[in-house]
Amino acid sequence: MSSLELSGMDLGQLRQQMLEWQQPAYRAGQLYGWIYKSLVADYSAMHNLPAGLRAQLAASASWPLLQVVETLDAADGSSTKALLRAADGQTIETVILRYPERNTVCISSQVGCALGCVLCATGQAGFIRDLSAGEMVAQVLYAARALRQEGRQLTNVVLMGMGEPLLNYEAACQALNIIMDPAGLGMGARRITLSTAGVVPGIRRLAEDNLGIKLAISLHAPNDTLRAQLIPLNRKYPLASVIAAVHEFISKTSRRVTFEYVMVDGINDSPALAYETAELLRGLFCHVNLIGLYPTERSAWRGSSDEAILDFQAVLLEARIPTTIRVRRGEEITGGCGQLRFRELSDDDD
Ligand code: SAH
Ligand code: SF4
Repeated sequence: MSSLELSGMDLGQLRQQMLEWQQPAYRAGQLYGWIYKSLVADYSAMHNLPAGLRAQLAASASWPLLQVVETLDAADGSSTKALLRAADGQTIETVILRYPERNTVCISSQVGCALGCVLCATGQAGFIRDLSAGEMVAQVLYAARALRQEGRQLTNVVLMGMGEPLLNYEAACQALNIIMDPAGLGMGARRITLSTAGVVPGIRRLAEDNLGIKLAISLHAPNDTLRAQLIPLNRKYPLASVIAAVHEFISKTSRRVTFEYVMVDGINDSPALAYETAELLRGLFCHVNLIGLYPTERSAWRGSSDEAILDFQAVLLEARIPTTIRVRRGEEITGGCGQLRFRELSDDDD
Protein backbone atom coordinates (compact mmCIF):
# COMPACT_ATOMS: atom_id res chain seq x y z
CA MET A 1 0.00 0.00 0.00
CA SER A 2 1.22 3.52 -0.73
CA SER A 3 2.25 5.30 2.43
CA LEU A 4 3.64 8.75 1.63
CA GLU A 5 1.31 11.63 2.45
CA LEU A 6 2.24 14.45 0.08
CA SER A 7 -0.24 16.87 1.62
CA GLY A 8 1.45 16.45 5.00
CA MET A 9 4.87 17.42 3.64
CA ASP A 10 6.13 20.97 3.50
CA LEU A 11 8.22 22.18 0.60
CA GLY A 12 11.49 21.32 2.35
CA GLN A 13 10.33 17.75 2.99
CA LEU A 14 9.20 17.39 -0.62
CA ARG A 15 12.65 18.55 -1.79
CA GLN A 16 14.22 15.94 0.44
CA GLN A 17 11.97 13.30 -1.09
CA MET A 18 12.95 14.36 -4.61
CA LEU A 19 16.61 14.04 -3.70
CA GLU A 20 15.97 10.55 -2.31
CA TRP A 21 14.42 9.65 -5.63
CA GLN A 22 17.40 11.12 -7.53
CA GLN A 23 15.27 13.94 -8.91
CA PRO A 24 16.39 17.57 -9.11
CA ALA A 25 15.13 19.63 -6.14
CA TYR A 26 13.15 22.00 -8.41
CA ARG A 27 10.72 19.14 -9.09
CA ALA A 28 9.44 19.67 -5.55
CA GLY A 29 8.44 23.23 -6.44
CA GLN A 30 6.65 22.00 -9.56
CA LEU A 31 4.79 19.35 -7.60
CA TYR A 32 3.91 21.89 -4.89
CA GLY A 33 2.45 24.16 -7.58
CA TRP A 34 0.27 21.36 -8.96
CA ILE A 35 -0.97 20.51 -5.49
CA TYR A 36 -1.59 23.97 -4.03
CA LYS A 37 -1.96 26.37 -6.96
CA SER A 38 -3.49 24.21 -9.71
CA LEU A 39 -5.31 22.04 -7.15
CA VAL A 40 -5.13 19.02 -9.44
CA ALA A 41 -6.66 15.77 -8.24
CA ASP A 42 -4.76 13.47 -10.57
CA TYR A 43 -1.08 12.77 -11.20
CA SER A 44 -1.70 12.49 -14.94
CA ALA A 45 -2.51 16.23 -15.03
CA MET A 46 0.99 17.12 -13.75
CA HIS A 47 2.34 17.23 -17.28
CA ASN A 48 5.66 18.95 -16.65
CA LEU A 49 6.75 16.11 -14.38
CA PRO A 50 8.53 13.23 -16.13
CA ALA A 51 6.42 10.09 -16.57
CA GLY A 52 8.85 8.14 -14.38
CA LEU A 53 8.36 10.52 -11.48
CA ARG A 54 4.60 10.47 -11.90
CA ALA A 55 4.68 6.67 -11.82
CA GLN A 56 6.85 6.75 -8.72
CA LEU A 57 4.43 9.18 -7.06
CA ALA A 58 1.45 7.04 -7.99
CA ALA A 59 3.15 3.98 -6.50
CA SER A 60 4.15 5.68 -3.25
CA ALA A 61 1.50 8.26 -2.43
CA SER A 62 -2.29 8.05 -2.84
CA TRP A 63 -3.64 11.18 -4.47
CA PRO A 64 -5.86 12.69 -3.36
CA LEU A 65 -5.28 11.28 0.10
CA LEU A 66 -8.98 11.24 1.03
CA GLN A 67 -11.72 9.82 -1.19
CA VAL A 68 -15.17 11.39 -1.31
CA VAL A 69 -17.78 8.87 -0.13
CA GLU A 70 -20.84 11.09 -0.10
CA THR A 71 -21.77 14.77 -0.25
CA LEU A 72 -24.93 16.44 0.96
CA ASP A 73 -25.94 19.94 -0.12
CA ALA A 74 -28.21 22.19 1.91
CA ALA A 75 -31.35 23.04 -0.04
CA ASP A 76 -30.38 26.72 -0.25
CA GLY A 77 -26.87 25.85 -1.47
CA SER A 78 -25.21 27.57 1.49
CA SER A 79 -23.35 24.51 2.70
CA THR A 80 -22.07 21.14 1.63
CA LYS A 81 -21.16 18.36 3.99
CA ALA A 82 -18.75 15.74 2.69
CA LEU A 83 -17.96 12.35 4.12
CA LEU A 84 -14.35 11.54 3.20
CA ARG A 85 -12.60 8.18 3.52
CA ALA A 86 -8.99 7.75 4.59
CA ALA A 87 -6.66 5.01 3.35
CA ASP A 88 -7.48 2.80 6.37
CA GLY A 89 -11.21 3.06 5.68
CA GLN A 90 -11.97 5.51 8.51
CA THR A 91 -14.40 8.26 7.55
CA ILE A 92 -14.43 11.92 8.54
CA GLU A 93 -16.57 14.94 7.87
CA THR A 94 -15.63 18.17 6.17
CA VAL A 95 -18.10 21.00 5.67
CA ILE A 96 -18.01 23.82 3.12
CA LEU A 97 -19.87 26.99 4.17
CA ARG A 98 -20.62 29.60 1.52
CA TYR A 99 -21.27 33.20 2.57
CA PRO A 100 -21.63 36.25 0.32
CA GLU A 101 -18.21 37.56 1.32
CA ARG A 102 -16.28 34.42 2.20
CA ASN A 103 -16.10 30.67 1.74
CA THR A 104 -15.11 28.60 4.75
CA VAL A 105 -14.11 25.00 5.22
CA CYS A 106 -14.68 23.31 8.57
CA ILE A 107 -12.17 20.50 8.97
CA SER A 108 -11.88 17.56 11.36
CA SER A 109 -8.76 16.93 13.43
CA GLN A 110 -9.46 13.42 14.73
CA VAL A 111 -11.61 10.41 13.87
CA GLY A 112 -14.07 10.64 16.75
CA CYS A 113 -13.19 12.40 19.99
CA ALA A 114 -12.22 11.21 23.46
CA LEU A 115 -13.76 14.12 25.33
CA GLY A 116 -17.35 12.90 25.29
CA CYS A 117 -19.27 16.18 25.41
CA VAL A 118 -22.90 15.29 25.88
CA LEU A 119 -24.21 17.66 23.23
CA CYS A 120 -21.87 16.43 20.47
CA ALA A 121 -22.46 13.55 18.07
CA THR A 122 -18.70 13.05 17.66
CA GLY A 123 -18.19 12.88 21.41
CA GLN A 124 -21.03 10.41 21.82
CA ALA A 125 -19.39 8.04 19.34
CA GLY A 126 -15.95 7.88 21.07
CA PHE A 127 -12.35 8.24 19.90
CA ILE A 128 -10.76 6.23 17.11
CA ARG A 129 -7.54 7.95 16.05
CA ASP A 130 -5.76 11.20 15.37
CA LEU A 131 -5.75 12.52 11.84
CA SER A 132 -2.37 13.13 10.24
CA ALA A 133 -1.30 16.58 9.05
CA GLY A 134 -1.71 15.27 5.49
CA GLU A 135 -5.31 14.27 6.18
CA MET A 136 -6.11 17.70 7.60
CA VAL A 137 -4.54 19.49 4.61
CA ALA A 138 -6.34 17.08 2.26
CA GLN A 139 -9.69 18.29 3.63
CA VAL A 140 -8.70 21.88 2.89
CA LEU A 141 -7.61 20.90 -0.61
CA TYR A 142 -10.89 19.06 -1.18
CA ALA A 143 -12.83 22.22 -0.32
CA ALA A 144 -10.53 24.51 -2.34
CA ARG A 145 -11.00 22.25 -5.37
CA ALA A 146 -14.78 21.95 -4.99
CA LEU A 147 -15.16 25.73 -4.57
CA ARG A 148 -12.91 26.48 -7.54
CA GLN A 149 -15.12 24.30 -9.72
CA GLU A 150 -17.99 26.64 -8.78
CA GLY A 151 -15.93 29.72 -9.56
CA ARG A 152 -15.44 30.46 -5.86
CA GLN A 153 -12.33 30.78 -3.76
CA LEU A 154 -11.66 29.25 -0.39
CA THR A 155 -11.00 32.12 2.03
CA ASN A 156 -11.29 30.72 5.59
CA VAL A 157 -10.45 27.56 7.50
CA VAL A 158 -11.94 26.54 10.85
CA LEU A 159 -10.82 23.56 12.93
CA MET A 160 -14.30 22.95 14.30
CA GLY A 161 -15.13 19.59 12.82
CA MET A 162 -14.75 16.23 14.49
CA GLY A 163 -12.17 15.93 17.23
CA GLU A 164 -10.17 18.10 19.60
CA PRO A 165 -7.35 19.78 17.66
CA LEU A 166 -5.29 20.63 20.75
CA LEU A 167 -5.07 16.93 21.61
CA ASN A 168 -3.49 16.42 18.18
CA TYR A 169 -1.26 19.46 18.46
CA GLU A 170 1.79 18.64 16.36
CA ALA A 171 -0.19 17.38 13.37
CA ALA A 172 -2.58 20.35 13.54
CA CYS A 173 0.33 22.83 13.58
CA GLN A 174 2.13 21.07 10.73
CA ALA A 175 -1.14 21.23 8.72
CA LEU A 176 -1.61 24.92 9.55
CA ASN A 177 1.94 25.77 8.54
CA ILE A 178 1.41 24.03 5.20
CA ILE A 179 -1.87 25.78 4.42
CA MET A 180 -0.38 29.15 5.41
CA ASP A 181 2.75 28.73 3.27
CA PRO A 182 2.75 31.61 0.74
CA ALA A 183 4.38 29.27 -1.79
CA GLY A 184 1.30 27.05 -1.53
CA LEU A 185 -2.29 27.94 -0.58
CA GLY A 186 -1.07 31.01 1.28
CA MET A 187 -4.03 31.16 3.67
CA GLY A 188 -3.70 34.16 5.98
CA ALA A 189 -3.39 33.26 9.67
CA ARG A 190 -6.23 35.65 10.48
CA ARG A 191 -8.51 33.55 8.32
CA ILE A 192 -7.90 30.44 10.36
CA THR A 193 -9.71 29.62 13.62
CA LEU A 194 -8.99 26.72 15.95
CA SER A 195 -11.71 25.68 18.39
CA THR A 196 -11.00 23.86 21.63
CA ALA A 197 -13.10 22.45 24.44
CA GLY A 198 -10.52 23.96 26.82
CA VAL A 199 -7.31 21.92 26.71
CA VAL A 200 -5.32 24.31 28.91
CA PRO A 201 -1.75 23.11 28.11
CA GLY A 202 -2.62 23.28 24.39
CA ILE A 203 -3.94 26.85 24.70
CA ARG A 204 -0.71 27.86 26.47
CA ARG A 205 1.40 26.17 23.82
CA LEU A 206 -0.57 27.91 21.09
CA ALA A 207 0.02 31.23 22.85
CA GLU A 208 3.74 30.45 22.99
CA ASP A 209 3.96 29.34 19.35
CA ASN A 210 1.91 32.38 18.25
CA LEU A 211 1.04 31.22 14.73
CA GLY A 212 -1.19 34.26 14.29
CA ILE A 213 -4.36 32.18 14.07
CA LYS A 214 -7.58 32.89 15.93
CA LEU A 215 -8.71 30.89 18.94
CA ALA A 216 -12.25 29.85 19.85
CA ILE A 217 -13.16 28.32 23.20
CA SER A 218 -16.24 26.17 23.69
CA LEU A 219 -17.72 27.72 26.81
CA HIS A 220 -21.36 26.56 26.95
CA ALA A 221 -21.69 27.42 30.67
CA PRO A 222 -20.28 30.08 33.02
CA ASN A 223 -19.69 27.89 36.10
CA ASP A 224 -17.85 24.65 36.77
CA THR A 225 -20.84 22.63 37.98
CA LEU A 226 -22.86 23.10 34.83
CA ARG A 227 -19.91 23.19 32.44
CA ALA A 228 -18.59 19.87 33.75
CA GLN A 229 -21.96 18.31 32.94
CA LEU A 230 -21.73 19.54 29.35
CA ILE A 231 -17.96 19.21 28.83
CA PRO A 232 -16.43 16.47 31.04
CA LEU A 233 -12.95 17.93 30.35
CA ASN A 234 -13.92 20.78 32.67
CA ARG A 235 -13.22 18.41 35.60
CA LYS A 236 -9.58 18.31 34.52
CA TYR A 237 -9.30 21.95 33.46
CA PRO A 238 -11.82 24.06 35.40
CA LEU A 239 -13.02 27.39 34.10
CA ALA A 240 -10.55 29.49 36.10
CA SER A 241 -7.63 27.65 34.45
CA VAL A 242 -9.18 28.05 30.99
CA ILE A 243 -9.74 31.78 31.52
CA ALA A 244 -6.16 32.19 32.80
CA ALA A 245 -4.83 30.44 29.67
CA VAL A 246 -7.03 32.68 27.50
CA HIS A 247 -5.53 35.74 29.23
CA GLU A 248 -2.10 34.42 28.38
CA PHE A 249 -3.11 33.79 24.75
CA ILE A 250 -4.42 37.35 24.42
CA SER A 251 -1.37 38.93 26.01
CA LYS A 252 1.04 36.93 23.83
CA THR A 253 -0.86 37.26 20.53
CA SER A 254 -2.99 40.43 20.92
CA ARG A 255 -5.83 38.46 19.33
CA ARG A 256 -9.46 38.70 20.32
CA VAL A 257 -10.71 35.29 21.49
CA THR A 258 -14.14 33.90 20.59
CA PHE A 259 -16.26 32.03 23.11
CA GLU A 260 -18.74 29.63 21.59
CA TYR A 261 -21.88 29.08 23.63
CA VAL A 262 -24.13 26.31 22.35
CA MET A 263 -27.60 27.03 23.67
CA VAL A 264 -29.61 24.11 24.98
CA ASP A 265 -33.26 24.59 25.83
CA GLY A 266 -33.82 24.71 29.59
CA ILE A 267 -30.23 23.67 30.38
CA ASN A 268 -27.89 26.65 29.92
CA ASP A 269 -30.01 29.42 28.43
CA SER A 270 -31.51 31.25 31.44
CA PRO A 271 -31.07 35.00 31.97
CA ALA A 272 -29.31 34.22 35.29
CA LEU A 273 -26.66 32.28 33.38
CA ALA A 274 -26.35 35.14 30.90
CA TYR A 275 -25.51 37.50 33.80
CA GLU A 276 -23.03 34.97 35.15
CA THR A 277 -21.41 34.69 31.70
CA ALA A 278 -21.15 38.47 31.47
CA GLU A 279 -19.44 38.49 34.87
CA LEU A 280 -17.02 35.73 33.89
CA LEU A 281 -15.96 37.45 30.67
CA ARG A 282 -15.90 41.02 31.94
CA GLY A 283 -12.78 42.86 30.79
CA LEU A 284 -11.58 40.05 28.47
CA PHE A 285 -10.72 40.94 24.87
CA CYS A 286 -13.33 38.59 23.49
CA HIS A 287 -16.42 37.98 21.44
CA VAL A 288 -19.27 35.56 22.14
CA ASN A 289 -20.97 33.45 19.52
CA LEU A 290 -24.34 31.98 20.52
CA ILE A 291 -25.27 28.82 18.64
CA GLY A 292 -28.55 26.96 18.90
CA LEU A 293 -27.92 23.25 19.59
CA TYR A 294 -28.36 20.90 16.67
CA PRO A 295 -30.25 17.94 18.13
CA THR A 296 -28.29 14.69 18.07
CA GLU A 297 -29.67 11.18 17.86
CA ARG A 298 -28.53 10.04 21.29
CA SER A 299 -29.78 12.99 23.29
CA ALA A 300 -33.24 14.36 23.98
CA TRP A 301 -31.91 17.92 24.28
CA ARG A 302 -33.22 20.60 21.96
CA GLY A 303 -31.86 23.95 20.86
CA SER A 304 -33.03 27.07 22.71
CA SER A 305 -35.87 29.14 21.33
CA ASP A 306 -35.02 32.25 19.29
CA GLU A 307 -36.46 34.30 22.11
CA ALA A 308 -34.17 32.74 24.74
CA ILE A 309 -31.15 33.28 22.49
CA LEU A 310 -32.06 36.92 21.87
CA ASP A 311 -32.62 37.54 25.60
CA PHE A 312 -29.25 35.97 26.42
CA GLN A 313 -27.58 38.12 23.78
CA ALA A 314 -29.23 41.26 25.16
CA VAL A 315 -27.71 40.67 28.61
CA LEU A 316 -24.22 40.23 27.16
CA LEU A 317 -24.53 43.26 24.90
CA GLU A 318 -25.69 45.29 27.87
CA ALA A 319 -22.46 44.28 29.59
CA ARG A 320 -20.58 45.51 26.48
CA ILE A 321 -19.52 42.05 25.38
CA PRO A 322 -19.75 41.78 21.58
CA THR A 323 -22.15 38.90 20.98
CA THR A 324 -23.41 37.43 17.73
CA ILE A 325 -25.88 34.68 17.00
CA ARG A 326 -24.68 32.07 14.58
CA VAL A 327 -27.26 31.46 11.92
CA ARG A 328 -27.86 27.76 11.66
CA ARG A 329 -26.82 26.31 8.38
CA GLY A 330 -27.35 22.99 6.78
CA GLU A 331 -29.54 21.67 9.55
CA GLU A 332 -31.39 19.59 7.03
CA ILE A 333 -28.11 18.01 5.96
CA THR A 334 -27.83 16.28 9.33
CA GLY A 335 -26.82 19.20 11.48
CA GLY A 336 -23.55 19.52 13.35
CA CYS A 337 -20.26 17.84 12.64
CA GLY A 338 -20.00 14.17 13.41
CA GLN A 339 -23.59 13.44 12.65
CA LEU A 340 -23.23 12.37 9.04
CA ARG A 341 -20.55 9.85 9.95
CA PHE A 342 -22.60 8.75 12.92
CA ARG A 343 -25.61 8.19 10.71
CA GLU A 344 -23.51 6.12 8.35
CA LEU A 345 -22.20 4.01 11.21
CA SER A 346 -25.74 3.49 12.49
CA ASP A 347 -26.83 2.46 9.00
CA ASP A 348 -23.99 -0.06 8.94
CA ASP A 349 -25.18 -1.43 12.25
CA ASP A 350 -28.66 -2.16 10.89
N1 SAH B 1 -13.35 19.85 19.94
C1 SAH B 1 -13.41 21.22 19.64
C2 SAH B 1 -13.68 21.54 18.18
C3 SAH B 1 -14.74 20.72 17.51
S1 SAH B 1 -16.40 20.94 18.07
C4 SAH B 1 -14.39 21.94 20.55
O1 SAH B 1 -15.14 21.27 21.23
O2 SAH B 1 -14.36 23.17 20.57
C5 SAH B 1 -16.78 22.55 17.41
C6 SAH B 1 -17.95 23.22 18.09
O3 SAH B 1 -19.18 22.57 17.77
C7 SAH B 1 -17.85 23.23 19.61
O4 SAH B 1 -18.13 24.51 20.13
C8 SAH B 1 -18.90 22.24 19.99
O5 SAH B 1 -19.34 22.42 21.30
C9 SAH B 1 -19.96 22.50 18.94
N2 SAH B 1 -20.96 21.45 18.85
C10 SAH B 1 -20.80 20.13 19.06
N3 SAH B 1 -21.97 19.48 18.92
C11 SAH B 1 -22.89 20.41 18.63
C12 SAH B 1 -24.30 20.35 18.40
N4 SAH B 1 -24.96 19.22 18.44
N5 SAH B 1 -24.93 21.52 18.14
C13 SAH B 1 -24.24 22.69 18.09
N6 SAH B 1 -22.92 22.80 18.30
C14 SAH B 1 -22.25 21.67 18.58
FE1 SF4 C 1 -14.89 16.51 21.19
FE2 SF4 C 1 -15.45 19.08 20.64
FE3 SF4 C 1 -17.32 17.16 20.38
FE4 SF4 C 1 -16.49 17.87 22.80
S1 SF4 C 1 -17.58 19.17 21.31
S2 SF4 C 1 -16.79 15.77 22.09
S3 SF4 C 1 -14.34 18.28 22.43
S4 SF4 C 1 -15.45 17.35 19.20
